[in-house]
Amino acid sequence: MKILLNLLIILSLGSVSIPTISARFYPNITITPPNLLPNYTNPAWDSFKKLAGCRSGETLDGLAKLKNYFRYFGYIPNNLSNFTDDFDATLESAIKTYQQNFNLDVTGELDEKTIDQLVRPRCGNADIVNGSTTMNSGKWQTTTSFRTVGHYTFFPGTPRWPDSKRDLTYAFLPENQLTPEEKSVFSRAFARWSAVIPMTFTETNSFSFADIRIGFFSSDHGDGEPFDGVLGTLAHAFSPPSGRLHLDNDEDWVVSGDISRSTLLSAVDLESVAVHEIGHLLGLGHSSVEEAIMYPSIPSRSRKVELANDDIAGIQVLYGSNPNFNGSSSSTPSAQERETSGAYDHVRAIQGWCLMVLVIAVSFLVL
Ligand SMILES: [Zn+2]
Ligand SMILES: [Zn+2]
Repeated sequence: MKILLNLLIILSLGSVSIPTISARFYPNITITPPNLLPNYTNPAWDSFKKLAGCRSGETLDGLAKLKNYFRYFGYIPNNLSNFTDDFDATLESAIKTYQQNFNLDVTGELDEKTIDQLVRPRCGNADIVNGSTTMNSGKWQTTTSFRTVGHYTFFPGTPRWPDSKRDLTYAFLPENQLTPEEKSVFSRAFARWSAVIPMTFTETNSFSFADIRIGFFSSDHGDGEPFDGVLGTLAHAFSPPSGRLHLDNDEDWVVSGDISRSTLLSAVDLESVAVHEIGHLLGLGHSSVEEAIMYPSIPSRSRKVELANDDIAGIQVLYGSNPNFNGSSSSTPSAQERETSGAYDHVRAIQGWCLMVLVIAVSFLVL
């Protein structure tokens, strides 16, 4: 079952295969010697590309694997198994829900844009938990052709850290032996959330007693959510008050430098993933808003670390606002961030404004 709830089996560190070496970290990816570059593959999901164009009623090798993918992320009920390679009604329904959640045309077919989204590296947490609808699919308006704006979600039951826990501690799995520079990535990620809610996050050396426990693991690591090697799922985190944040030890994590100019096609920005997973630790689920931190996927060689208004609105429902928060998500990015992501953000901003104008226009028409 792909549900990351604190009710799941408590992680027994004694039975877990803890990596003896640290994950592959690249302090500055642009200077990575070519002979250190692994052969780029996406073994997890690249095979889905050959399914492009497949439609209902057809049979194609690989569709059973795709059904397992959809089950893993909550789009097919967990009690279904022994999948066939037939493009059946179950698969078509899963594809339609997925397309709603990722703002794609709801065709029910494996068109190119859907395949492109499916193979993107993403968070291992499910989009739909316990069969309850989350993201866009829970807000879909079937009576009109108008698609509502997706926004933040919570875990079932809306778990959050209790009022008595506003100053949380975090610790790193000692066996990972992270350097101060690697740890500082998480410190920055935590600071992005503490800037908008009245909570603090302090590092401690006591892994067993920390509220939040961060570790890099490879493949099966004892919680029923095995990692899958390079790309595919990048990390996952459990709902409050579990505090478990796990990252895939086999990713090519980048801790600094301009990742967009990386020569390593599988490079993943550690801070971007850390900010997202901390959102889960605090109680947020996935969002359909593409610019939101809580959007489930992130392309390799890209960086997204700023909380969007959608993230801030969601987390403040759970914990209220930090008294020092000025109400704006436009924090001042570093010069490097402006340089590397400015053009992309600008395009997104224009799209966002267009959507907002459309929403207002339709609202007036309805009224
Ligand atoms: Zn996630
Ligand atoms: Zn795990």
